[in-house]
Amino acid sequence: MYQVPRGTSDILPEEQVYWRHIEQKVANICQLYGYERIDSPAFEDTGLFTRSVGEGTDIVEKEMYTFSDKGGNQITLRPEGTAPVCRAYLEHGLHNRPQPVKLYYLASIFRYERPQAGRYRQHYQFGCEVIGDDDPSLDAEVIDMAWQFFRSLNLRHLSLQLNSIGCKQCRPGYLSVLKDYYAKHTKELCPDCKVRIDRNPLRLLDCKQPSCQQVANAAPRSVDYLCPECKTHFNRLKGYLKLLEIPFTLNHRLVRGLDYYTRTVFEIQPEAAGAQSTLVGGGRYDDLIEELGGKPTPAIGFAMGIERIILNLKKQDIHIPPLARPRVFIAHIGAETRDEAIKLASGLRQAGIGSIVATGNKSLKAQLRQANNLGVRYAVIIGEEEVKKSTVSLRDMTTAQQKTVPTSELPGLLIE
Ligand code: ATP
Ligand code: MG
Repeated sequence: MYQVPRGTSDILPEEQVYWRHIEQKVANICQLYGYERIDSPAFEDTGLFTRSVGEGTDIVEKEMYTFSDKGGNQITLRPEGTAPVCRAYLEHGLHNRPQPVKLYYLASIFRYERPQAGRYRQHYQFGCEVIGDDDPSLDAEVIDMAWQFFRSLNLRHLSLQLNSIGCKQCRPGYLSVLKDYYAKHTKELCPDCKVRIDRNPLRLLDCKQPSCQQVANAAPRSVDYLCPECKTHFNRLKGYLKLLEIPFTLNHRLVRGLDYYTRTVFEIQPEAAGAQSTLVGGGRYDDLIEELGGKPTPAIGFAMGIERIILNLKKQDIHIPPLARPRVFIAHIGAETRDEAIKLASGLRQAGIGSIVATGNKSLKAQLRQANNLGVRYAVIIGEEEVKKSTVSLRDMTTAQQKTVPTSELPGLLIE
């Protein structure tokens, strides 16, 4: 027997209620904030991701599904959503539209990871990107949008972590201070971190190894080395968050490892945190579009994992409104009634009333049991007598009350 590939899953009908609910909340919040949807292909040229996500990241070094196709093209299944959006922005000349351009996506993401709860090889993300403006009010807007999105889902006990990692001007100065500090602590570091000192020093700060964490906690903080522009930007962002009454915690160990990530970095986590707990990661990437061949174009965005949101909805026991189901079950007894039932179901559906017709030659009792299991509100029962008189029996499944009504009046009686 075949099974789903490791780290992937089928989303069965009973799970769909969560997915449809979240999709609807995503569409609602994006409409409220003026973000338009964009969909990109599930795969891209590998170079797009090595260039944008960057060598030296877990994604590029370990997690990409890369292959050459039958035409010899190097292809990678989308391991994150920002690079494809930036590619599309450049490819379709979106810089010619009024700036900033505000986009969102809901997309499958592929990463070769060690599967565990909240960590899969295919997962789904809701992400948004604001491209073409560096105003700190947009940083606040994007954070507010993620925050209000969780509120609209009734998720509680979340914490917003915030940091600023500076820009091309001020970061080199900070990195040299950071390297000097780490050079004094090499003995305490894990093997990965020993390599990071030269390759990707910012990433030293988010190492998960306990001994490295102690070193990281006492490390110099990027916020103390910001240039005046970055400092003002960060102060204004914090001001806006206070204005919007969004509580945040400064976390100087929150980073993005690559040069084109700038200034604002944020995450939202459940308060009882664990390794797979981060719901949202986001931040500025003012130098990425230029890296991909465009003019200097500031941008900010976030991405959140849908599966982790669902895990938290379940953990917090949050009621999700059920999906609409057919209202009517059509039972039929006797030889002449089947055609009548099929025709009636089709007519009701055309009138917008969801209907399910019994199949086979089950007894009325079995058919009503089926209607009950399906959770319909009404059963319509057609017998040979009824066919002759153009009537049906209408049974309210909640009260078990039954009455005879003319078939022509059914749609009017059944509509919600
Ligand atoms: P982590 O540190 O947990 O690996 P990340 O930094 O790789 O996260 P991002 O690239 O910022 O995560 O992705 C945005 C969000 O997507 C994460 O906050 C998380 O909610 C979700 N996510 C990331 N990787 C996975 C995965 N393998 N399975 C399920 N959800 C994921
Ligand atoms: Mg990861």
